Amino acid sequence: MESQNWIGGNWYTPSAGEMTVYNPSETSEIVGTVHLSSNEDMMEAGVAAKAALQQWATRTPGERAAFLDKAASLLEQNLEEIAHVASSEMGKPISEMKGEVMRGVNLLKYYAAEGVRAHGSVIPASQSSVLQYTKRVPLGVAGLITPWNFPVAIPIWKIAPALICGNTIIWKPAEIASLSATYVAKIFAQAGLPDGVLNLVIGEGHTVGNTLVEQVDVDVISFTGSTKTGMHVASIAAQRNIKYQTEMGGKNAAVVLADADLKLATSAILSGAFRSAGQKCTATSRVIVEESIYNPLIDELRRQLADVYTGSALDPKSYLGPVASKAQYEKVQSFINLAHTEAQIVAEGALQLDPSSGYYVAPSIVEGVPTSHALVQEEIFGPLITLLKATDFEEAVSLCNQTVYGLSASVFTNDIQKGFRFLDEAEAGMVRINLESAGVEYQAPFGGMKRSSSHSREQGQAALDFYSQLKTCAVYYG
Ligand code: NAD
Repeated sequence: MESQNWIGGNWYTPSAGEMTVYNPSETSEIVGTVHLSSNEDMMEAGVAAKAALQQWATRTPGERAAFLDKAASLLEQNLEEIAHVASSEMGKPISEMKGEVMRGVNLLKYYAAEGVRAHGSVIPASQSSVLQYTKRVPLGVAGLITPWNFPVAIPIWKIAPALICGNTIIWKPAEIASLSATYVAKIFAQAGLPDGVLNLVIGEGHTVGNTLVEQVDVDVISFTGSTKTGMHVASIAAQRNIKYQTEMGGKNAAVVLADADLKLATSAILSGAFRSAGQKCTATSRVIVEESIYNPLIDELRRQLADVYTGSALDPKSYLGPVASKAQYEKVQSFINLAHTEAQIVAEGALQLDPSSGYYVAPSIVEGVPTSHALVQEEIFGPLITLLKATDFEEAVSLCNQTVYGLSASVFTNDIQKGFRFLDEAEAGMVRINLESAGVEYQAPFGGMKRSSSHSREQGQAALDFYSQLKTCAVYYG
């Protein structure tokens, strides 16, 4: 497969460079070629998005919704093929990838329906015969920058609300998710979206991504990716006084209290930590355990880890596949090496294939490092969890909060009071009882606190607030 740009309704192959895509499950296999854009391509997308804005913004929400509905049906019809492309490109197991595409379908349907929902409010005026009310209006051109780890769902959870609110879009996907991005954009083209309403520009972050943020005439930027890049994007958007949203990294904890159901906690911890090979912003990467059940929990983790199957992304049996790329492999492997030299290995999953055939990392559980250690503080984005002991609930919550991140946190307990106290006291945007740290649904707000987010939210109703602005209207009819 070849990536392509879609700008102003034209599909073409940009020529500023190219990248061969190797299948992370089988690195001798070539999946396709990504063609990189120049800054001129990006500037052209800005012109196309601006030119399409007025017509799109003045359509009724019901008319805009019809395109989203059509895209939802087409995406569902193409579910198998797009999941196959994405799994081959970035290594997410096919069973999870199909679930992700279905989430995209649901997001499109949800935001299509939101187009005709009542919104705004009527506010009493101090003068008689005056009707005062608010209405939502579009922001203008939206610049969307997306990561590779959810190549379908994250783009759609930005594109769908941005479109239904009447904005036009320039989308810059992650380099190593560009084949999937081309496929997703083709779905919108087939749905008949008017020219220039959605523009796809494939390219590198430090070139065209930067141009989008610094130079293109955009009115809003929504970014998902690492905290380092996100803070850079936020600082430029703030200088330009452009509305922005940055959803960034995490170092999510699962807290297991003495009275927890250990089987349930263990299965949620392994799923949160190891599905997608730990490459979710909401992945569990610290497990904080009350001392009295520390050893029984380790026994249960070892028991359940023995059944975890690591295999090719296209194997439907795979619980986790490879990590997404060579760069990811090297980064995760450096943390595994650190664990081997500075921590104790509690358990390691088996690899059911030749590890050198792809970017495979065996899932690992480690212990024996202080809270200040890199394994406890840095986002690894790979299948590695670090165990920490807590003497009681208070210490467990304190450990949970000892991080610069604040995306997601879970507690496992049957004590309703401690459970609710945890929801109050954990410093994270998504807090959960007896559920894994990942898996927040599309109709609920998604986002973090502290260095995980710029504090707005995606998904659900929150995305409609982000992709629109309020006008306060007053009419004298006396
Ligand atoms: P990344 O920051 O390297 O890249 C993200 C996107 O930004 C890519 O499209 C990239 O090309 C682009 N980019 C890079 N440099 C840029 C620049 N100077 N200007 C503009 N754009 C630039 O992140 P990644 O490796 O693709 O994704 C993994 C990260 O994403 C992890 O940290 C993970 O936690 C985070 N993430 C967060 C959420 C969330 O909702 N909080 C969800 C998924 C992933």
